[in-house]
Amino acid sequence: MAIEIDNNEKKNRTFDIDKIRNDFPILKQLINGKPLVYFDNAATTQKPLSVINKIESYYKEINSNIHRGVHTLSQRATVEYEATREKVMRFINAENLSEIIFTKGTTDSINLVASSFGKKFVKEGDEIIVSQMEHHSNIVPWQMLCEEKNAHLKVIPINDSGELIIEEYEKLITEKTKLVSIVYVSNSLGTINPVKEIIKIAHSKNVPVLIDAAQAIQHFKIDVKELDCDFLCFSGHKVYGPTGIGVLYGKQALLESMPPYQGGGDMIRSVSFSKTVYNSLPAKFEAGTPNIEAGIALGTAFDYINSIGIENIFDYETDLFNYANEKILAIDKLIPIGTAKNKSGTISFILDGVHPHDIGTILDFDGVAIRTGHHCTQPVMERFNLPATARISFGLYNTKEEVDIAIKSIKKVFEVFI
Ligand code: PLP
Repeated sequence: MAIEIDNNEKKNRTFDIDKIRNDFPILKQLINGKPLVYFDNAATTQKPLSVINKIESYYKEINSNIHRGVHTLSQRATVEYEATREKVMRFINAENLSEIIFTKGTTDSINLVASSFGKKFVKEGDEIIVSQMEHHSNIVPWQMLCEEKNAHLKVIPINDSGELIIEEYEKLITEKTKLVSIVYVSNSLGTINPVKEIIKIAHSKNVPVLIDAAQAIQHFKIDVKELDCDFLCFSGHKVYGPTGIGVLYGKQALLESMPPYQGGGDMIRSVSFSKTVYNSLPAKFEAGTPNIEAGIALGTAFDYINSIGIENIFDYETDLFNYANEKILAIDKLIPIGTAKNKSGTISFILDGVHPHDIGTILDFDGVAIRTGHHCTQPVMERFNLPATARISFGLYNTKEEVDIAIKSIKKVFEVFI
C-alpha cells in the first residue's frame, strides 16, 4: 500500500508503508500468537535493519577508540562518528558543528545544562521556569540545582485540556528568571506546546530557553534557527536510533560561556598539575570514551528518516493520528486525558472503573504493546487526579489496521472488567 503525498513540492514522493514495515525486523514477530502491534513508541522506537546492521558492522569492521588514534581503524571510526554530528547539525539546521554535543540522551543533556549553566549563571534567589507537564528529567535536575543554589523552581500550570496557560507563564517571568525549560510535545498528554511563542516571550526579557524535543524530533521538522531556542535536546532511541546516545544543541556563544560538565579525556587540550586547558566545543562537553557505535548508528537513523522525508513522515502520522483519535475517543466509557487542540504522537486515556495496568495486560494478550503508568510525569497525574493512564503512541510504521486491532482489544477490556 503506497500512499501518495499529493502536495506540489513533494508530488513525486511516496510513503510506502509496506516497504517501511519491512525495514523493521521486530515487527514481523508474533506476541502471544498475534502479530505485534507496537504502540509504545514514546518510550522507545523500533530500529530499522540499516541501524541494526550498522552496529554489527561497526564491531566487525572498525571497532576502535575515536579521536586519539593515528591508525586506520581509529580514523575510520572517528570519521563515521563525526559524520553523525554533521547529519544532526543539518537535520535541525544548527549553525555549526560546535553546537552539537553528544550525550547519553535527553536526561543527560538536561543534566548537563542544569549542572554547567546552573553552576555559572544561577545564584541564590534566582528562578528557573518549567511547566506542569514536564517529564521528570526536566524537573528533577532543576530541583537539584535549586536546592544547591537556594534558587526557586516556578511552574507554568496547565488547563483541563492539558495545554499550558500562557498568561500564567508571562506572569511567572521576572528579572530573577535565569532559564525557561519546556517540553515541545508532552509524552503523557500529546500536547504540542507553542514553543516559538514561549521563546519569544522569554527572549523579550533576555531569558534563554531550553526545549525538550524528545517527543518532537521524530514526528516533525525542527529548525533551531527558526525557533531561536537556546538549547534543544533529544534521545537517539526515540528517533529510530540506538539507546545510550542523545544530543544537546546549544547556541555556540552560550555553550562557550559555560564551564565543562565532566572532566576527563577528550575534553582537554593539555593537562598538567599547574594548569589544565580545556578543549574547544564540542569536545569540551564530551569527556571520556563515548558510545561510539550508537553515535555512528544514530547517523544511520537520520539517513533512514531522510530517505523517507520528515515532512512525509509528518503527513502520514498526522493522518494516522487523526484516524486513531477520532475512533478511540468514540469508545463508550473511555475518558481521554489530554485533549489539546494541537497534539502529536500520543493518545492517553482511562477506562472508567479499570486500572490502566489491566488495560495494558489485556491488550498484550492480543499482541498490542501500549504503556500504562505515570509515564515519568507524576505532576501531570496529580493535575488530573489519576494514578496512571493507558497510552498509545505512534511511530512511522504504524497503520490504521493496527489502530483497529487495538480498539477491538480495548473493547474486550469492558467484557472482562465491567
Ligand atoms: N523528555 C520527554 C518528553 C520524554 O518523553 C523522555 C522519555 O520518555 C525524556 C525526556 C527522557 O528521555 P531519556 O530517558 O531518553 O533520557
